[in-house]
Amino acid sequence: MSESNPPEAFKPRKVRCPACTGQSLYSSANPYRPFCSARCKGVDLGAWASEEFKLPDETPLDEDFGDPRQQ
Ligand SMILES: [Zn+2]
Repeated sequence: MSESNPPEAFKPRKVRCPACTGQSLYSSANPYRPFCSARCKGVDLGAWASEEFKLPDETPLDEDFGDPRQQ
């Protein structure tokens, strides 16, 4: 048998938490990855939610702008 390097299963490693820039364990054991904790993940989700609410409501006002009697 030749030397074979069995592919390492998902190897946990430390990454930087995007929310608090602290150390976060990037592994299947951390359901909040790449965040370090549920709190940090919640912070990000909160930002996302507010971002959604900030979407401009671009309702076309054609009927208001165009005068049907113009033609
Ligand atoms: Zn964090």
